[in-house]
Amino acid sequence: MTPKVAQFLVDHQPATPCLVLDVDRVEENFRAIRRALPLARVYYAVKANPAHPILERLVGLESSFDAASFEEIRACLRAGAAPSAISFGNTVKKVSAIRAAVDAGVSMFAFDSGEELEKLAAHAPGSRVYCRILVGNEGADWPLSRKFGTTVELARDLMMRAADMGLDPYGLSFHVGSQQTATATYEAAIGKVGMLFTDLKDAGVNVRMVNLGGGFPIRYRDEVPAIGAFGDAIMHAMTECFGNALPEMVIEPGRSVVGSAGLVQAEVVLVSRRDPADPVRWVYLDIGRFGGLAETEGESIKYQFVTAHDGGAMGPVALAGPTCDGADILYERSNYRLPTALRSGDQISILSAGAYVTTYASQSFNGFAPLAEHYI
Ligand SMILES: *Cc1c(COP(=O)(O)O)cnc(C)c1O
Repeated sequence: MTPKVAQFLVDHQPATPCLVLDVDRVEENFRAIRRALPLARVYYAVKANPAHPILERLVGLESSFDAASFEEIRACLRAGAAPSAISFGNTVKKVSAIRAAVDAGVSMFAFDSGEELEKLAAHAPGSRVYCRILVGNEGADWPLSRKFGTTVELARDLMMRAADMGLDPYGLSFHVGSQQTATATYEAAIGKVGMLFTDLKDAGVNVRMVNLGGGFPIRYRDEVPAIGAFGDAIMHAMTECFGNALPEMVIEPGRSVVGSAGLVQAEVVLVSRRDPADPVRWVYLDIGRFGGLAETEGESIKYQFVTAHDGGAMGPVALAGPTCDGADILYERSNYRLPTALRSGDQISILSAGAYVTTYASQSFNGFAPLAEHYI
């Protein structure tokens, strides 16, 4: 919790649940990432938090942007981003979105199949395209490998054909999965993609860029390696692979830019013992799976909680949201403990909740309003 956020909570006592996010902290995080990988161009992954004050600040820092839809592209343009600084990074795009992006001046597109490459050739002729390769996601709390990426063999084939199709075969990309805590997973991915890159160059393809994706972790309940450790591992692997002839490097951090800048302030709705023989209390909050905490699915992302009773006696709890849906359980198996003094009506803070929360909030399931947002 930054001092600015703490002061805002005291001064304004905002209605809960709400996100309070310190935009200065976004800037600090962005600068730290750039320091860790000074040779890489940073494309902020807009989906992590597309709020205007964040995009505007990042435009001021000369960030580029990784957008997944035309709506995200429009949000970047509204914040002042140049079309040349926007990558349409989703490998699955509607034709109407591709055309709208081209009309807006966007010229960099991702693909991971021949079918999508043909759409790009037809509707974004001449644009720079990069192919996403399937890599291991070991060590990621929120893997992305099932849905995206293709094999080295097919990627080679498609990149060889791209120029003949009237496209610029610009680069290769991968994503090691989000909240990735293992530096070795980046190194393995660079090895795999680096070999293909060299192979394509030898075959005469004018490939110039390697996009290392995002995935850099932040501290939730458990400690994670610092961003510098990822920077070092990545540069070491890149140098092993390419020597002095480094390609253009792109990274697409989302979580690590905004996550630690924000906190969700919530209220305890009920603390109950539904079975007197069970030591586990059930703690129901006014935010849950459908209010924005979607990444608690599978208990994948383990948020850290802060209450006014911290330091006193603690006991085991299960945590759940306020809706009438049985799936609206945050944690049952992750051994959470909260103060035994915790009562209905108490405030509770959910730390490092600046990423992947606001846009995941449902419209008004059970009548609950979408998460309120304060950018300070
Ligand atoms: C979600 C996503 C990112 C951001 O990942 P983080 O783990 O939040 O850093 C980057 N690139 C692509 C293509 C993505 O889908």
